[in-house]
Amino acid sequence: PTLRHPEHWCRSFSHFIAQCLIKDFETRPSVTHLLEHPFIKQAHGKDTSLRQQLSVLIREQQDVGNRIKTRHERINTRKTLIIESCPDDDLVNLEVLDEETIIAHLQRRYQELQIYTYVGDILIALNPFQTLNIYSPQFSKLYHGMKRSTNPPHIFATADAAYQSMVTLSKDQCIIISGESGAGKTESAHLIVQHLTFLGKANNRTLREKILQVNPLVEAFGNACTAINDNSSRFGKYLEMKFTPTGAVMGAKISEYLLEKSRVIKQATGEKNFHIFYYIYAGLYHQDNLKKYSESVKLYKEQFDAIQDCFRIIGFTEEEVNSVYRILSAILNTGNIEFTSTSSQHQSDKSEVPDSEALDNAAALLSIGSEELQEALTSHCVVTRGETIIRTNTVDKATDVRDAMSKALYGRLFSWIVNRINALMCSDGQIIGMNVGILDIFGFENFKKNSFEQLCINIANEQIQFYFNQHIFALEQIEYQSEGVDASLVEYEDNRPILDMFLQKPMGLLSLLDEESRFPQATDQTLVDKFQDNLRNKYFWTPKRVELCFGIQHYAGKVLYNVGGFLEKNRDTLPADIVVVLRTSENKLLQQLFSSPLTKTEETTNMRRQTVASYFRYSLMDLLSKMVVGTPHFVRCIKPNDDRQALRFNKERVMVQLRYTGILETVSIRRQGYSHRILIEEFVNRYYYLAFRAHQMPEGSRENAIIILQKAKLDNWVLGKTKVFLKYYHVEQLNLMLREV
Ligand code: ATP
Ligand code: MG
Repeated sequence: PTLRHPEHWCRSFSHFIAQCLIKDFETRPSVTHLLEHPFIKQAHGKDTSLRQQLSVLIREQQDVGNRIKTRHERINTRKTLIIESCPDDDLVNLEVLDEETIIAHLQRRYQELQIYTYVGDILIALNPFQTLNIYSPQFSKLYHGMKRSTNPPHIFATADAAYQSMVTLSKDQCIIISGESGAGKTESAHLIVQHLTFLGKANNRTLREKILQVNPLVEAFGNACTAINDNSSRFGKYLEMKFTPTGAVMGAKISEYLLEKSRVIKQATGEKNFHIFYYIYAGLYHQDNLKKYSESVKLYKEQFDAIQDCFRIIGFTEEEVNSVYRILSAILNTGNIEFTSTSSQHQSDKSEVPDSEALDNAAALLSIGSEELQEALTSHCVVTRGETIIRTNTVDKATDVRDAMSKALYGRLFSWIVNRINALMCSDGQIIGMNVGILDIFGFENFKKNSFEQLCINIANEQIQFYFNQHIFALEQIEYQSEGVDASLVEYEDNRPILDMFLQKPMGLLSLLDEESRFPQATDQTLVDKFQDNLRNKYFWTPKRVELCFGIQHYAGKVLYNVGGFLEKNRDTLPADIVVVLRTSENKLLQQLFSSPLTKTEETTNMRRQTVASYFRYSLMDLLSKMVVGTPHFVRCIKPNDDRQALRFNKERVMVQLRYTGILETVSIRRQGYSHRILIEEFVNRYYYLAFRAHQMPEGSRENAIIILQKAKLDNWVLGKTKVFLKYYHVEQLNLMLREV
């Protein structure tokens, strides 16, 4: 039984309850009057070990209390911050509510290094572009179990609210972090994991250490340096932290979405490959005297050592790690395989590998035959009328096959690492628990040249924005009406039509792309024509002067996409000949990667292949289904400038981001609206002992709900037909009162 449900309590189990209270006290030392609690009193006298436990805890509590007092003093750090809350921490409290005022307000706070600001229960996080000393364990303690208004806004407060809400209401939670590339989503996600790990005190230290290694490991493989962000996430990540019913952390699980595999073979100017390649290159190939190498090599080598530690701490075997390195090195070598054309009288389209060094290296690292690999790259089997014919590949075709192999190797290796981490982190998977999910998905992108990858990323962002709108505006308004609650409606930009244009079947953009991908004769031009003929709405257009392009009016702005390579990227074909060769490998990991398709089906003669677009659509739905079961908490990251400079606040840039994320509308709806709606019966059941005695068990009626609301001295609540409508700050007040009963 959780502590929040006294109906489960039973006097004959007073000892058990006392133990539970102690556990609770350990995770939330703010539970007051522990010693005065009747259950504790009853069990305490008879049990010396209980007495000892209690005295240790009380001492610790006093320690924490002393430290918390320091929040009223300036913290003496290099960057002086005032650790006090004030009314302007929340935009909802502003008297004037126009864009100008909000921007000026955020700017002033930013200059004072107050990067976090609330909009009701939503957190705005401005990227400081400098290291702030506000994330130490001291700060985790400061925010632990506190009311939101006690301290200034902070990412720890959001993590804390999610955690408290999970434990108190026994319900899964989900923290959705959104924002442009480079706005600070991944950093925020790390900080949330850090605070949750602190809160969910794992009994064994190893588990805590393991959890903290998950993000760095996955990001070494999934992040890369882009034109916008040196550590840009090139995949979407949903990390679920799992907790026991009493709130102790017991594991973690990651789901990955849409890794940008094409980066393995090609990067735009000024961009780089995935971090891990630089790490292993420095780590494995620069073994001798480090002094003679450049600073960057030294840094990469350090990162390589850190990744080695991650693997070890999480629990990968040495054999597994070696196999991973071999595959990565093989990918590096594969990229160096060059082809030349060897036209002869009989065969005009033949290619060969003139210099076999890279080929031999790659084959050796993959534990396959060099000749077999060359054959699979330079020729392919065709089955016609039961007969197998071998056809040669042109240089272009051989190059495509080589690149497809590299992408497949990397993509499957990445999925394997994620699955392996999950297996190693969730050994207690059978225990029923609750979780806090953290969504850190690639931000909205608009480059000079945008391709299929940007399209997918931006569609994912449309979906997240839609989910946000649903929660903040749409569901709220529908419910007011059906409950007969009078609340003025707030206008907001509904991005549903754009999302439909992408995802609808059979005429949405992704379906059209799939259809065209099935025609072998399709070209970039036929694809653009198809889009143009079928997508007739104000969100889509084809520019007159730029060829093979189409534009989309996204919620976050106009983006011009170049269709070059769309079809091939969507088909993502891996020739069967390559799969056959890779399956002959003596490397166990490699066999595993290609024994069954992990995410996609490889090319087979009769099977209709799954395209990237259809897999993407499926992943989006899967992600949404995970998100909707939890109570959402939103973190909106904002990038104050494009130069990554500390203290530089570009009003225009911030304004654009506030506009498209609907912050302004959010402020007014949070001010007027009721963000929490609880069925009357559930409300009475949950909070009755704020007004009744524990054994009374009052009926879940409107009258009783009113008694509780009055007794709790809440203001501005509304009672609908079936639900109690509460302001965002009421729930916190109620939960706090509950804890203190
Ligand atoms: P992408 O969509 O490209 O993955 P992102 O939103 O995840 O971008 P981050 O990688 O989290 O962006 O942040 C970009 C950079 O901004 C970080 O590498 C770091 O230098 C800086 N940064 C972000 N948040 C913070 C913070 N809270 N404190 C200090 N620096 C930060
Ligand atoms: Mg990121």
